[in-house]
Amino acid sequence: MSLTPILEETLIKRSQQKKRTSPLNYKERVFVLTKSKLTYYELRSEKRFRKGSVDLNRIKCVEIVRNSTTIIPCQNKYPFQVVHDSTTLYIFAPSNESRSVWVQSIKEEIRDNAQIAAKFHPQFWQEGEWLCCGQVDKLAPGCESYNLFGDVSRKPLPPVPGDETTVRRPPPPPPPTEETTQTEAGSREEVVISLYDFQGSEPHDLSLKTGEEYVILEKSDLNWYKARNKLGEEGYIPSNYVTEKKSDTLEQFVWFCKNVNRNKAEEQLRKEGKDGGFMVRVSSTGTYTVSLFTKSTGDGSVRHYQIKETQTPTKQFYLAEKYVFSSIPELIEYHNYNAAGLVCRLRHAVGDQRREVPTTAGFSYDKWEINPSELTFMKEVGSGQFGVVRLGKWRAQHKVAIKTIREGAMSEDDFIEEAKIMTNLSHHNLVQLYGVCTQQKPIYLVTEFMELGCLLNYLRQRRESLTSLDLLSICHDVSLGMTHLEQRSFIHRDLAARNCLVNSSLVVKVADFGMARYVLDDQYTSSSGAKFPVKWSPPEVFNFCRYSSKSDVWSFGVLMWEVFTRGKMPFEHNANHEVVMMVTQGHRLYRPKKTSPHIYGIMQMCWKERSDERPTFSQISVMIAEELEADGSA
Ligand code: ADP
Repeated sequence: MSLTPILEETLIKRSQQKKRTSPLNYKERVFVLTKSKLTYYELRSEKRFRKGSVDLNRIKCVEIVRNSTTIIPCQNKYPFQVVHDSTTLYIFAPSNESRSVWVQSIKEEIRDNAQIAAKFHPQFWQEGEWLCCGQVDKLAPGCESYNLFGDVSRKPLPPVPGDETTVRRPPPPPPPTEETTQTEAGSREEVVISLYDFQGSEPHDLSLKTGEEYVILEKSDLNWYKARNKLGEEGYIPSNYVTEKKSDTLEQFVWFCKNVNRNKAEEQLRKEGKDGGFMVRVSSTGTYTVSLFTKSTGDGSVRHYQIKETQTPTKQFYLAEKYVFSSIPELIEYHNYNAAGLVCRLRHAVGDQRREVPTTAGFSYDKWEINPSELTFMKEVGSGQFGVVRLGKWRAQHKVAIKTIREGAMSEDDFIEEAKIMTNLSHHNLVQLYGVCTQQKPIYLVTEFMELGCLLNYLRQRRESLTSLDLLSICHDVSLGMTHLEQRSFIHRDLAARNCLVNSSLVVKVADFGMARYVLDDQYTSSSGAKFPVKWSPPEVFNFCRYSSKSDVWSFGVLMWEVFTRGKMPFEHNANHEVVMMVTQGHRLYRPKKTSPHIYGIMQMCWKERSDERPTFSQISVMIAEELEADGSA
């Protein structure tokens, strides 16, 4: 009887953080609640492996985790905690409903336990500190009274159908909301709004007009959706140009600057220089933040206010506790007229001045072969391993970079085979490959044009003017691009500052990903060759050519070092063979001048000898984001 599951669902478990510096892990586990135990299993090829279990009679507290400051780096965003013995287990549910069911079900089972906590910590234990009360002792007493029967999330338990042996399934998805409409056939249609104009370049494309609505017909390609406009015309549109139509879609407001980090927000608000100038951004830690410029403090300063959310009974938003609103636009509207706790009113919406029309994955759906007669060649901007790079235009209007591949420099057939996959890699921090011209010799690669050229030169030329926050922001851009590659299991193999580029909006993007595989030059490809990037390589690469996303992580650590030294050569006084010996013996690059121990700590994590001990790129982005948000004073 006691083994009969009451509840069962795949949730995500956060690892116990053993050392302060070790990154947190988030793992999918099948959780099973019975009358006597909460057990979690790893699921491997349909088989379950028991990874751990907690006797219910040892549980002292189960409660949701109130989280407003920490970004949750896994797909499940609803954390709850199970406190037993001297341990807190953090579990992440996929929805508020699922979390509520788990919390209440466990509460139900432990109601007669001998030991129930009098107090608890409503927020996370993270990096050696309770985020709720700032206590640094993991065993510090809780800071808020615990009421076993007063659920913080206050949702009633759904009725349990049948008898108590029934396994309670997570609740069904919510009913359709107003943004989905019914077709005659009865199936639901997805409606999106266009954020930018798009001029279709092929007959099978559909042009977009900013602000207009489109019905999505097919999503089989991640980058190009098939859609219908209000005239009934159908065709392909770039998926990154549209956003779901919801009454609370923030993208439609000028003040919403989603991708602007704290550093860039301050810069833009100061530049505008208007008292009460503001923008709403998604802070690096994942919460909505109002950044507000005021002159009331003398020559002007920027304040950042987190928009807080209440969970119950429905989600509401507030900046100052007394004034609660059902949506962010309503909150902004209110504070437009009332300072109500802020340093001044939100008087002038400041848009993202650097917001550019994003690149598309290729110029059209299913198109990566480009007709060379549609290219105009302009000035030469550089040359590299494969040949000369020129500024150019496609169909006389799109600025592009055209790389002419020198004959004999590239294993062309292999590359052409891969070009389609590479064209489909599309992210704000990756240099977009638009397509290739392969029907003639030499072949061309056509990519996004990056006005300010390579990151290494950029760092060297602007040594003096780059602040620590600028440097951190550069690393953050690169880490986001690399996270995208990591999530698609795509290995760069030659990540370094020389292989990143900077555009006129000062966005840094990763270039040349995967291209090392097509170089025909022994000096570059053999680990003993003079051009092999030994100084950016971990031991498993210079010894065994074992590449992985984790070997990219090592290179990223070196790139961070290049950034914080403003473009120095790593191990500048040592030859490659000496670096191999030094690194093998455990020697690492030194802490660059004026770099905080914490930032250097991130580099050191990337240079762990064992690749499985290095953090992932998504963890690195979070660490850098937190540092940026903290204030980044490196
Ligand atoms: P290769 O891959 O052949 O070694 P690179 O990609 O390193 O060549 O390019 C050589 C130089 O050309 C870079 O350092 C940079 O200055 C310039 N360059 C390359 N790609 C672009 C681009 N997309 N936009 C602007 N400049 C570029």
